[in-house]
Amino acid sequence: MNKTNHIENYINGKWTASTSTDHMEVINPVNQDILAKVPLSNKKEMGHAVDAATSALNDWRDTPATERIQYLFKLKTLFEENIDELARTITLECGKTLAESKGELQRAIENIEVACGIPTMLMGSNLENIARGIDEHMIRQPIGVVGIITPFNFPGMIPFWFLPYAIACGNTCIIKPSEKVPLTMVFAMHLLEQTGLPKGIVNLVNGGKETVDAMLDHPQIKAISFVGSSQVAKYIYSRGAANGKRVQAQGGAKNPVVVMPDADPEVSTKIIVDSAFGCAGQRCLANSLVITVGEAHKPFSEALCEAASTRVLGCGLDEDVHVGPVISPESKDRITSFIESAHTESANVIAGGKAVTVKGYAKGNFVAPTVIDNIDPQGIIATSEIFGPVLGIIPADNLDQAIQIVNQGKYGNMGCIFTNSGPAARKFRNQVDAGNIGINIGVAAPMAFFPFSGWNESFYGDLHAQGSHAIEFYTQTKVIAERWPKEWSRTF
Ligand code: NAD
Repeated sequence: MNKTNHIENYINGKWTASTSTDHMEVINPVNQDILAKVPLSNKKEMGHAVDAATSALNDWRDTPATERIQYLFKLKTLFEENIDELARTITLECGKTLAESKGELQRAIENIEVACGIPTMLMGSNLENIARGIDEHMIRQPIGVVGIITPFNFPGMIPFWFLPYAIACGNTCIIKPSEKVPLTMVFAMHLLEQTGLPKGIVNLVNGGKETVDAMLDHPQIKAISFVGSSQVAKYIYSRGAANGKRVQAQGGAKNPVVVMPDADPEVSTKIIVDSAFGCAGQRCLANSLVITVGEAHKPFSEALCEAASTRVLGCGLDEDVHVGPVISPESKDRITSFIESAHTESANVIAGGKAVTVKGYAKGNFVAPTVIDNIDPQGIIATSEIFGPVLGIIPADNLDQAIQIVNQGKYGNMGCIFTNSGPAARKFRNQVDAGNIGINIGVAAPMAFFPFSGWNESFYGDLHAQGSHAIEFYTQTKVIAERWPKEWSRTF
């Protein structure tokens, strides 16, 4: 950042002022303070970053994987040493609590750790004597220059679902973080710089749609990793694939949770409410729809209402705050207009239900944790991604009906069940159309060594982020057949 708080790009190992005249303000959602100005970089600047990444590629892919990961070991240490300051940056620009910010950084560190094991994961396979004197083996090589595009809600974690794996596999990359929360990646980029990573391997280009389009259209970019809303994910997938790129595009979500009559009310309520209202509901794995089975409805709707009403809203930097502001005033208005539509569905708002003012933070984008009972399973609240602290409840007669309601949703990021019954849990995990399943878990976020498996409109592509899928996504296989028959042997 320069003296006027204008964020710079990081291209070919240098912090560079953008030549774009378009900027956006980065705004603290708790008080509307302007934290910085972020450039909306243009096609030319993306071109410079791609040139830098392309020039760095040959030497980087020839660098042994065991050497490449040494930079990641250093990065992990730097993340740990700077976790407090990084978390503070996330909270300032994104609004979540410090505990939530640290939690996401912990996830970033876990991904860096898994990527440090890439030499083993990169190993190929071979078969001796596919015919007499002929062996065949497969190796993995990097795909080339990779583009990474990330959303606003996890600025410290989501870039690291991709970046460590991409570079450990021998690729170079360009990252474009969300223009709403660019400061965290600027901080992380300074840490990457301190590792001594050679120039051009990771480039940071800030911007919005024009910057993304330049990435999608650049012929030298071979793969795109994206996380954001489904509408944009679909667009990224279509345009990237039409341009011949490998694309993984994670989209939005609506995550149902089925509550069986035998679920423990106290424990389950706490877990569900933490999932629904943590990060102010702006989490792609937030429980946003509770489907109560049979007699679970009354005790659970009452318990959820009570638990929602006791959540403390406030500034994420303050202790004892459970729920921070949502990202922007527009987002707050969008969320409250969803809540208002409850009336047209004859549903009952039993907790929250409106925007609120918090003492000391009159300009904060606060929405009260909201529970809406008896929503229409086909209605707008049940089917839309609201992306705020809003939980809808649908009563169902039995587990089969509950699973049917879950599976009629268009997303497939996560499905959860709360029960003490093994057979009910087993049936649920077998039959539900979602890529991440929680059994008595509210945020079933896969650890870094598992793929982050969204389904349906929560994901466009084949290979997901993290773990073994990341290795497959960021490499291409080469199969080599070689003939060395005995008759050719000589004695040396
Ligand atoms: P978004 O789709 O608005 O933006 C994501 C990225 O795409 C940003 O970098 C943005 O600059 C860019 N972008 C936005 N509009 C674009 C356009 N028209 N053309 C090209 N690029 C564009 O998403 P957001 O509001 O930043 O993030 C919230 C969304 O992300 C939610 O839908 C949430 O569910 C989803 N999300 C999904 C996951 C997952 O793992 N599936 C994880 C986190 C967030």
